Amino acid sequence: MPSKACGWGAVSAKSPLQYMAIKRRDPRPNDVSIKIEYCGVCHSDLHTVRNEWAGTTFPMIPGHEIVGHVTAVGSKVAKYKVGDRVGVGCMVDSCLKCKECCEGLENYCANGNTQTYNSQTEDGMTMGGYTDHVVVREEFVLRIPDNLDLCAAAPLLCAGITTYSPLRHWGVKSGSHVGVVGLGGLGHMAVKLAHAMGAEVTVFTTSANKVEAAKQLGAHNVVISKDPAQMAAYKRKLDLIIDTVGTAHDLAPYVDTLKVDGTHVLVGAPEHPHPALQPFQLILARRSVAGSCIGGIAETQEMLDFCGKHNIVCDVEKIDISYINEAYERMLKSDVHYRFVIDLATLKQQ
Ligand code: NAP
Ligand code: ZN
Ligand code: ZN
Repeated sequence: MPSKACGWGAVSAKSPLQYMAIKRRDPRPNDVSIKIEYCGVCHSDLHTVRNEWAGTTFPMIPGHEIVGHVTAVGSKVAKYKVGDRVGVGCMVDSCLKCKECCEGLENYCANGNTQTYNSQTEDGMTMGGYTDHVVVREEFVLRIPDNLDLCAAAPLLCAGITTYSPLRHWGVKSGSHVGVVGLGGLGHMAVKLAHAMGAEVTVFTTSANKVEAAKQLGAHNVVISKDPAQMAAYKRKLDLIIDTVGTAHDLAPYVDTLKVDGTHVLVGAPEHPHPALQPFQLILARRSVAGSCIGGIAETQEMLDFCGKHNIVCDVEKIDISYINEAYERMLKSDVHYRFVIDLATLKQQ
């Protein structure tokens, strides 16, 4: 039997989030049922709710930084049992057969993976984690290390893996020089993770009031990106940039800070394109501009275990679910330190 669920979602791109009653699918033998305790608020939630990427189907419920406890498992579930601390990130299914899936890159599944929200399935559109519970196939459930605070671990499921994956892919190690553009949810995790990997970290921020906090998070250098003199001082200094900015911006001043063979990785996913680069900026130092999308399931577990080992969690502001619309407005003003996380205990059935 499908189960009754409730949460907060949007009925249109122009309306605020509001209470909604929905149904979760009838659990299958390989499904895990999870009581959601906390859910992080990612800027992608806001892009989708406001239909900035086009393709949002309404009504919709966002949320893909889900943590909680297992309440039931199907007969074929081997990895999890009732009571386990678990998480769910941005994906809940993929073909598991294509070349990418077989290599652990379900995030790049050739047949298109099923996202945690706003994806079509045979049971209707998926609905995200601003809800009381979720039903997810075992392969897409992650284990949260025991030593990590559950609320502060929630944003690892998206902000954590989205920054960990490119840091690993581009081989960051002790002594690497890593730049992080934008100190929001993703950016602050990039700083913590790159620091833990032994890199020298330079933060580029538009917010002068974040300088001290950036240093406390592990940044060695902080640059106010609006100041051309400060930017010029970093010419040819960095091996890798993780650009987390979610609005269109000029990449050129950042690309100038890359060494020969340096790479500027875009993880921020703005509604509108960035202005084009002058090719000579890349040609004359063999630089690359690249992109990266979350991470595969095995790598997400690797990231969680890495965070467990290094005691890394997110800096969070815990909110009641009824605060979500104000939280979105504050996120748009870069006024988050550094991730809102919804306490689902504040969700009341109406
Ligand atoms: P966020 O918490 O709002 O952080 C974004 C930060 O970017 C802000 O805190 C701000 O930092 C900076 N910023 C904002 N507007 C700017 C502007 N006009 N110019 C320069 N900097 C600006 O957002 P988030 O949750 O980290 O997400 C960031 C982006 O990544 C979103 O587009 C999101 O959709 C995307 N995303 C992508 C993936 C992926 O797989 N690739 C996964 C998750 C999210 P300062 O105050 O320090 O300047
Ligand atoms: Zn996200
Ligand atoms: Zn696949």
